[in-house]
Amino acid sequence: VEEAPEIVIVGGGIAGCALATVLSRAAISVAVLERELAPVDQVRGEFLALWGVAEAVQLGLVDTLISAGAFHTPRSVSYDENAPLDEAEAVARDLSAFLPGIAGPLCCGHPAMCAALAASSQAAGAKVLRGAKNVAVVAGVPPQISFDWNGQRIDWRPRLIVGADGRSSTVRRQLPFGWNTDRPHNFLGGMLVEGVPQWPQDTFSIGTQGDLQFFVFPQGRGRLRLYACWALDAAKRFAGTERRRRVLGAFGKLSCLRHSDAIANSTPIGPFNAFPNEDRWTDEPTLPGVLLIGDAAGYNDPIAGQGLAIALRDVRVVRDLLVGSDFTQATLKPFVDERAERMRRLRVTARLVATLRAEFVPGAPARRARAFQRSFRDGWPSPLLAPIVGPDRLSPEAFEDAVIDRLLN
Ligand SMILES: Cc1cc2nc3c(=O)[nH]c(=O)nc-3n(C[C@H](O)[C@H](O)[C@H](O)COP(=O)(O)OP(=O)(O)OC[C@H]3O[C@@H](n4cnc5c(N)ncnc54)[C@H](O)[C@@H]3O)c2cc1C
Repeated sequence: VEEAPEIVIVGGGIAGCALATVLSRAAISVAVLERELAPVDQVRGEFLALWGVAEAVQLGLVDTLISAGAFHTPRSVSYDENAPLDEAEAVARDLSAFLPGIAGPLCCGHPAMCAALAASSQAAGAKVLRGAKNVAVVAGVPPQISFDWNGQRIDWRPRLIVGADGRSSTVRRQLPFGWNTDRPHNFLGGMLVEGVPQWPQDTFSIGTQGDLQFFVFPQGRGRLRLYACWALDAAKRFAGTERRRRVLGAFGKLSCLRHSDAIANSTPIGPFNAFPNEDRWTDEPTLPGVLLIGDAAGYNDPIAGQGLAIALRDVRVVRDLLVGSDFTQATLKPFVDERAERMRRLRVTARLVATLRAEFVPGAPARRARAFQRSFRDGWPSPLLAPIVGPDRLSPEAFEDAVIDRLLN
């Protein structure tokens, strides 16, 4: 570790390790500084949307994800209070038909994906320094970074520092990046359970009943990643030492969800962590010598399940700009512009999703049924396709206020 690499990436999660892999494959020298000694379940995304799988294909990372245990879940069943079980299953959507050559979204454990991507980056020549602490950064040409690792303080002047250190990014907080915050819409929490082998592995479900929005993503070997979304004014609903039992109890009451009894009797095998869900973002994720990607650069309300796809798109766009370039801030301008419009569109989308699926008010079920029918059956312009095919594959019109109003009214 005596010699500084060309690029230092802070954070060895999905974004950081994916970028380290593809840059190393392009013969750029890279080091990843990761705080944790091994990937931990912090309750993050385990469902990679269809358009994110397309990004993984372009990055040459699908095999790595498959080696981590990822599998395709093309069947989307909207179990919901609006439909009896059989009816919901009869109109299941086949997501293998949406993007040519993409067999479906991928489900995979988050820590397993991080571990596999870290291994792929090392195989391509990157250094992954685990247990790196007290990272200090200074922007400039060149930028400076120092950190504790293996009992020593290391100082480097690389050509570029990439902050890929997640929601509460230390790289972002140490430097004068702007930070915008939308108002939170709901609480969203998740937990991994095992003991539900009857849940079909090709199927995921997102739906609402009463005052709970629920998500079920299969994780192989009878395990499911469950997420629950509930009202902001019920902060304590799933708090305290009994919270995992309460979450399972709430799933057990979902008469619209197939296998809800089995889920209620499943065994939690990870923490239940919850977060107020909102969008947060910076308009300018670059400074001289420094770049933010993934959640560090800003995240979409996780209610739309887009964070992993966003991270992989960031990696793909940044790779295409950096390889063969001089690594200057100006080189990254197309990424800044592309990300700003992408995240704007996803903000509009997530707000609509939150309104339809997680505003637990009288009339909400009928409004939801109407908007989904208009979007998916009647072919009205709608942002609701964006979480499947990606925000850039729709026309700009789909994200206009008038379109949203028409869907809701
Ligand atoms: C409840 C919830 C549910 C979600 N569900 C989905 C979903 O279904 N689908 C989806 O696509 N997305 C989902 N997301 C979003 C998704 O998990 C994130 O967008 C994605 O993980 C971002 O990847 P990242 O690499 O930018 O950040 P992270 O995955 O957070 O990785 C950051 C890494 O940086 C490390 N790190 C942090 N600080 C430091 C430091 N100071 N020094 C060194 N290392 C550091 C961390 O240990 C970690 O390894 C969800 C998010 C939440 C909160």
